[in-house]
Amino acid sequence: LLSVRGLRKSFGTTRVLESIDLTVGRGRVLALIGPSGSGKTTILRCLNGLETADGGTITITAAEADPAAAGATPAGTGTGTELTVDFGAAGGPRDKQLAALRDRSAMVFQNYNLFPHNTVLENVLEGPVVVQRRPKAEVTAEALALLTRVGLADKTDAYPFELSGGQQQRVGIVRALALRPQLLLFDEPTSSLDPELVGDVLRLIKELAIEGWTMVIVTHELEFAREVASEIAFVDGGRIVEHGDPKQVLRHPREERTRQFLHRLL
Ligand code: ATP
Repeated sequence: LLSVRGLRKSFGTTRVLESIDLTVGRGRVLALIGPSGSGKTTILRCLNGLETADGGTITITAAEADPAAAGATPAGTGTGTELTVDFGAAGGPRDKQLAALRDRSAMVFQNYNLFPHNTVLENVLEGPVVVQRRPKAEVTAEALALLTRVGLADKTDAYPFELSGGQQQRVGIVRALALRPQLLLFDEPTSSLDPELVGDVLRLIKELAIEGWTMVIVTHELEFAREVASEIAFVDGGRIVEHGDPKQVLRHPREERTRQFLHRLL
């Protein structure tokens, strides 16, 4: 579903992504771990088009729309349409291609990033209605079903400041699901939460994994990564140093740098 080849990104003279290669199959969950400043967030932001990479390609294959799938469900299997954006192309990628790339993934942010002056429901409707131009009545029904599912049916008219961090993050997740993306991206989804609120959000992410959503999750929670991820990539210095089965990477890392990183955390 996702294939990244030779992705590079600098900020000014600082090279943040040296060359990133990644593949994530449909329904798989990839956890990105690694030291602070290694480039994990930048990878997600490039995938979502929030940053424009300087070189390399990103390919996201969409499943064919399944007319029988009501509501936000993971896109089914199918031959699908492939979108490749080449950041090394002369003049860079076209705006149309970038917009199409953005439309295929949805991001859940560390600090929720909800619109503070909009209600919970308005926050969820914004992307599908304003950006994707889907019918408001249909999206509203879907949004209410998703909010009910995450236990927030009575908060649809509340403003973000009236919610706990855990509730805000559940809205953040619903907002991402309502976009019906091929790929869900999570940037340290629990690191702003009080410890007692972390469990609910992690449980929800685990449920989504079981339902078959394809996800890339940046996390510092190694235990969670071990439980939810189908594969783990260790990022250091703007490169994927090691990529493999969670148990293998966490218990029997092949690379010395991975060993050192894990050792510091234990
Ligand atoms: P953390 O675990 O601390 O979130 P990370 O692995 O996600 O770290 P990134 O946020 O991707 O790392 O940042 C990688 C490097 O790029 C850092 O050195 C950071 O200071 C730098 N960086 C990120 N965004 C920008 C920006 N917009 N302008 C300049 N430098 C940036």
